[in-house]
Amino acid sequence: MILKPRAVKLSTRTGTSVNRLLPNANLRRIGAWIFLDHFGPYPQTEQSMQVARHPHTGLQTVTWLLEGDVEHADSEQNLQRIQPNQLNLMTAGSGIAHSEISTKQDNKVMHGVQLWTALPNEKRNIKPFFEHHANLPTRRAENYTLAVFLGEYQELKSPATAFTPLLGAELELEKDLTLELNPAFEYGFLPLTGAATIQNQLVEQGQLLTLETQNHEVKICTEEKTKILILGGEPFTEQLVMWWNFVARTNEEIAEMQHRWNHDDKWIPHFEDRLGGWIPAPQMPNVTLKAR
Ligand code: MN
Repeated sequence: MILKPRAVKLSTRTGTSVNRLLPNANLRRIGAWIFLDHFGPYPQTEQSMQVARHPHTGLQTVTWLLEGDVEHADSEQNLQRIQPNQLNLMTAGSGIAHSEISTKQDNKVMHGVQLWTALPNEKRNIKPFFEHHANLPTRRAENYTLAVFLGEYQELKSPATAFTPLLGAELELEKDLTLELNPAFEYGFLPLTGAATIQNQLVEQGQLLTLETQNHEVKICTEEKTKILILGGEPFTEQLVMWWNFVARTNEEIAEMQHRWNHDDKWIPHFEDRLGGWIPAPQMPNVTLKAR
């Protein structure tokens, strides 16, 4: 199946919109990957990314850049600038807040993806923590480079903490390649810098081709050097309630998180950043959120 991106105007990011691939009306998730935004390429300015302090629960945020840089600050007192080919991974667990800020960089472009993974039930309330990885396992072959930022692919094992069997990788490809797949995984392939033909289907830049389990290999062809995001994972079968920046299991849990964040009960410690301010949660909908 080919999923087309939909432009989402983020109230928290001035002047930019992102392309959302997951969740999608036709597909909720790929393995434990529950959220995928693709942003850029566009000129990097002070307005490219200005996301003030906001909370997360029950998930991991994954930031992966192709170009540009972003400064991350969080309520566990981490401050980390991320650059291309590096991973910022924030395990939200029981609750963490962070902000993400771009700085003006002359002639620089911002281009990347923001992902979430769902934490399994027995891990979703763990103490939050943050990881930055600048050295990721990379295979450099004659006509391709494969870097694994989360999970593993054959001998390439990311040092980052994963909680379910999954894969997050960037493939840079010239010409044609057949990659072995894990038949227990679902997969997604997102060409980031050009089109690609994947399993005989033309996938335009910014579209996501998805594969169900039971595939043993994938054939990818490109006309020119192209970067492709690869996501995979064992089907994540727990039912989730995803609302705003929270992942939980029931409407009541979400309502409590919304209330506590907006009433600032110090559930999540404060921290200072260059941006200042914070983003309140929107009003809860009148309908009861259902786990799906
Ligand atoms: Mn966030």
